[in-house]
Amino acid sequence: MNKKNNKNKKCNCDSCKEMRTLDRIDRVSRWVLGTVKWTYDFGYIISSGALSDKNHPIEKFKNLKDDEKKYLINTCEKAYKPFKKYLLFYICYLFGAYFQQCKRHKIEFKFEKDFLMIQLKSFRKMIETFYYSPNKKTNLWMKLFDNLFGKKDLNINKNFFLALFPPLKNEQLELIVDWFIKYKENPTVENIFYSAAHYFHMELDENSSFNNIKTDNALDKHLFKLTKKDLKGFNKSILQAEIPIRNSFVYLALTTHEKLKKLFIEYEANDVLIKKIISIGPDISYQIESLKN
Ligand SMILES: [Zn+2]
Repeated sequence: MNKKNNKNKKCNCDSCKEMRTLDRIDRVSRWVLGTVKWTYDFGYIISSGALSDKNHPIEKFKNLKDDEKKYLINTCEKAYKPFKKYLLFYICYLFGAYFQQCKRHKIEFKFEKDFLMIQLKSFRKMIETFYYSPNKKTNLWMKLFDNLFGKKDLNINKNFFLALFPPLKNEQLELIVDWFIKYKENPTVENIFYSAAHYFHMELDENSSFNNIKTDNALDKHLFKLTKKDLKGFNKSILQAEIPIRNSFVYLALTTHEKLKKLFIEYEANDVLIKKIISIGPDISYQIESLKN
């Protein structure tokens, strides 16, 4: 019964064993990172005008007025800031996506610490790898952002991954997982959890309308909205039919953040760093207004 004696013992239930051996758990972590990075890439960096015909490539950028240059550099340099404080959101979102993956592969999903920690560690490991030794061929890394504005030190891609990788110790990760387990039936937590499951399902299921968009136009795919049919079967999901599914991270994060923060403070976890992370920084928004002349 002594917790300390069990510290290094791994749970060997079927679910945990399957989780540890599956390479498809990477698929889930990658998907979660991808949905959030999409908002960063398109909603922030590209929306700033950094790659527009007027400002890109470098020959055109060089001809801009100084204040225009300064605006673009400054905007892209700071774009990572709103992504830091949604730590609790990422947790609920991540586990929801894993829940759906388990369902697809007939693995029992458990609201248990060991089981959930495998998922959280996989997620953190992936972010860490993207920060230190990224595979630049994946679509999670925007090559166009490397040396943007002819500057090598902007680290537009890296800044994003660092924002999602606060320096938390194992005990702090466990604390967040305990918090999640305690509030797993809270409506806000459930909304995020099942919305992620829903979206992940839409993206993987061969029959979903998301996968049957008959267009090669990337923009159409980006602006895809769910139909009434797609909303069936996920009662606790709060994905909307009116807003493009690619923007769901923004509205989910915006509408739930204060409630999650309150739940964490109510939990009376005296963790100064986590409280700080979830309390400071600008809110996420759909996009930065394009450079006005
Ligand atoms: Zn287990």
